[in-house]
Parts: sequence; structure tokens; C-alpha cells
Amino acid sequence: MTTLKNSIAPDTLQTLVKRVRPALAESFLAEFMNLDVIDAAAVERFVRRFRNFLPQPGSGRGLVENLQDALRDWQANLHGAWRQPLTLGREVALLRVISAHLTPPEAQAITDAYTMVLLHALHVADRMRICQNHECGAPYFLAERRSQKYCSEPCARPAQAEFKARWWSAHGNEWQQKRRARAKRQKTKSHKGGN
Ligand SMILES: [Zn+2]
Repeated sequence: MTTLKNSIAPDTLQTLVKRVRPALAESFLAEFMNLDVIDAAAVERFVRRFRNFLPQPGSGRGLVENLQDALRDWQANLHGAWRQPLTLGREVALLRVISAHLTPPEAQAITDAYTMVLLHALHVADRMRICQNHECGAPYFLAERRSQKYCSEPCARPAQAEFKARWWSAHGNEWQQKRRARAKRQKTKSHKGGN
């Protein structure tokens, strides 16, 4: 006979809070969002590393029949939230994921690491981005700057090169003329100065 608890044991909560550190929650999120769930070897590596962060079966949650299918569903739900263009949209979508994770009510007593990760995701919803480099192999990332569009320097490089090329074709001649004129003026000036 199971009893329904309406609160988590304080020691359990403390343990979870200590285990699910923000940096770890963020690396779990990034790895999970970019995981290729079709790739069995990648899934195995991921599960080996993050088993404790995945949803734990509770009285209401039931056992997961096929982990790969379950991962695909959990990932799809989070992708849906991450892809929302505005922070508020991401937060609302995350709240839906959280409430589904904590339903039915019995599940609320079984606070697992995944609950903590989802709550942390809610805190960082304003930094969720998808890398604008379409060739990026791991496009889901948490931005460090608000204006950040690319996950990394290598991903930003092609856009920077393209920007430079476009700038040069539009302003290159003008810039060179100005530079030559300035150099000429400086030459004249230094001649007059007697150097
Ligand atoms: Zn990227």
C-alpha cells in the first residue's frame, strides 16, 4: 500500500538541489537538445552520462518501455519550447512541459532531477537560441550575450566573412580613396614639418 505524500522529504530535496547544479543542468540541456536520438551509439553515451537527469519513473509516470522513443518524445517537447521565438512563449511552453511531467498528482511527490532541470530551463528561457549557421551540428545553445546569434566562433565565421565581402564590394573603393587621400595629406604635412 503506497501512501500519497504531499511534500518531498527535505533531505531528498537538498540532495537534488546539490546534484543538479546550474552548470550541469545547462550542459545536460544543450547535450539533450542536440542529441541525435536515431543514433543508438550517441544515445547510449548520452544515457550513460546523464541517466540521473532523465525523468524517473514514479507511481503515476510508469515505466519507460523504450528509452529511445521516450527520449524522442521528451526532446520533441523541449525542442517545441526552445523554438518559440519569444521568451514568454518559451516560458509558457516550458510550463506545459513541467506540468505534464508533474501530472498526475502522485508525481508531484516524486521530485526528480528532471523536474529541477526543467525549472532551470525556465530560468534560462531568455537565453535559449538556435544557431543561425544552417550547417551547425549542434544548433541548440544558451546564449551568453543577448544579441548572440551563433553558438560559437567557428559558426559565426562564414557570416562574418560574408559581411566583410559585402562591405568591401559596397564601400571598398571609397575606403581606399579616403585612405590614399589621408596618406597623401600626412606625407605633405610631414614634408612641411621638415622631417
Ligand atoms: Zn553553431
